[in-house]
Amino acid sequence: MKRSKLLTCLWEFQQSDGYISDKAIAEISQKLKVSKIEIEGVVTFYHFFHRQPTGKYIIYLNNSIISEHKGFSTIKASFEKETNCTCGQTNYNGMFSIFETACIGLSDQEPAALINFFPFTNLTPAKVKLIIEQLKSGADLKAISDKYSSKIQFTPPEDKTVFFRAYNIGAAIKKLKDTSPQEVLNNLKNIKLAGRGGAFFPTALKWEHSQKSPHKTKYIICNADEGEPGTFKDKALLNNLPGLALEGMITAAFVTGAQKGYIYLRAEYSYLIPIIEATIHKFYQNGYLGKNCCGIESFNFDIDIQLGAGAYVCGAESALIESIEGKRGIPRIRKYFPTEYGLFGRSTIVNNVETLVMAARIIELEPAFFKNIGTNKSKGTKLLSVSGDVAKPGIYEIEWGISVNEILHKSQATSPYYIQLSGPSGECINKSEFERQICKEDLLCGGSIMVFSKSRSIIQILENFITFFKTESCGNCTPCRAGTQILHEKIKKLKKGLCTKKDLEDVKQWGQIMRLTSKCGLGQYAAQTFAMAIEKFPEYFNLKIIDESDNKFVEFDMETAVFDYDLLIKNSQ
Ligand code: SF4
Repeated sequence: MKRSKLLTCLWEFQQSDGYISDKAIAEISQKLKVSKIEIEGVVTFYHFFHRQPTGKYIIYLNNSIISEHKGFSTIKASFEKETNCTCGQTNYNGMFSIFETACIGLSDQEPAALINFFPFTNLTPAKVKLIIEQLKSGADLKAISDKYSSKIQFTPPEDKTVFFRAYNIGAAIKKLKDTSPQEVLNNLKNIKLAGRGGAFFPTALKWEHSQKSPHKTKYIICNADEGEPGTFKDKALLNNLPGLALEGMITAAFVTGAQKGYIYLRAEYSYLIPIIEATIHKFYQNGYLGKNCCGIESFNFDIDIQLGAGAYVCGAESALIESIEGKRGIPRIRKYFPTEYGLFGRSTIVNNVETLVMAARIIELEPAFFKNIGTNKSKGTKLLSVSGDVAKPGIYEIEWGISVNEILHKSQATSPYYIQLSGPSGECINKSEFERQICKEDLLCGGSIMVFSKSRSIIQILENFITFFKTESCGNCTPCRAGTQILHEKIKKLKKGLCTKKDLEDVKQWGQIMRLTSKCGLGQYAAQTFAMAIEKFPEYFNLKIIDESDNKFVEFDMETAVFDYDLLIKNSQ
């Protein structure tokens, strides 16, 4: 249990010294009784722990595809120029360090950066110049950062809005005193609530598993590690309705008998800590947390925040559990569900923020409210993070069953051509599918819609996705470690105009191998979009290959071409 303090201890040194020194490792080793080599292994696993000194201000630049399209390279060059630092190198000059990082959850306000984890959005070279000048002259970082606000672009009519409606503290959990755990489960089943993190596992079933577990100690984890590029809806919930996330956790504890909860918050959302802490404090003051909480005798439940440290794979529930235990966030072998063997070997519920908020709203509003909202299999509403080539990026609370076209219309999309649903590990759709409905009966969506217009290069999009997976793979299993590398090589061939039909077949086959043999969702879905894009955009892959040397499109016959360099050179002239 002592070891579970490891990430927190490392953060203390990272924040005070700017890096994790040998001395810090020795000190932590003594304190927690964990070997130095083990600690070193943990430090090197997470992107935001540094083993070399960094500047007073660490600038993290988001290199997601949305950021790339919105001007990432210009902003990166501006930061490098103004700070006199080179991104990604040992950038210590006493004052600034610059690093690239994966999506920071600000896709509706790109280009964006985090400086010491404070957000700076809608950047321009002039704004970058001003920020750096202010910091050099001693301005207070927090004071000059952008005050984060969620762009809620759309909600349904009031009688159908579930999430972004008025909230009164305790609205759901006050009812628990006069409700049985079975009634709560029945309500969730009635609405067919399924996990909103992407797996869509029935929530009531998960809670029931834990309820039946013989373990005396149980845990509830709120997964606030929303790392799928292009997704920022859970952040909007934590920012606007943190109390509802707590109420969802308390309801889960009431059903299962758990005594302790953790909010696993991604470090990129550190600026939300004050609002979450203040809400937790208010809950204790109101008797909704602590001993005999909600006025229910012997119902004791506490909640802590555990800060992540930069690892996409920790969004996978078993990796997240390992991380809270103070280890490298490597997913566990799928032998047990976390409800059987979870945190510290005890029965554990892991639900993401949206699922917990939805559970609380179901208890508050009661099933009858949802009767006419959504479809038969998907009741209620869903939150979507919409970004890319749209005039109105932001959060959309939509009724399940809405068509992709309606979303494109509402967000004022510009010449939509390629749409990516549920992030890089989700799926892409083409124009012929724009009438499809977002719901269980047709097209499920985890929470992100990235819109790309005809002017965008599909190869650039795929390259960004594959590079992301390659960087984020924990390397623990071979199909994922090797497969992401091979997919990257295929992309490089595509870019050079050397890709053959055989290469594209290889991509599909690797996709199947990775799907069947990888240990976690990262490896299982890393090739999915690439393979789908080949099928869904034949005009792009069968006829055209970008000749990187002069950026021209080259006519190319995949059937006959087998590394025909002469033909390529001839065609590109
Ligand atoms: Fe790690 Fe990839 Fe295997 Fe997941 S699939 S455990 S990320 S190597």
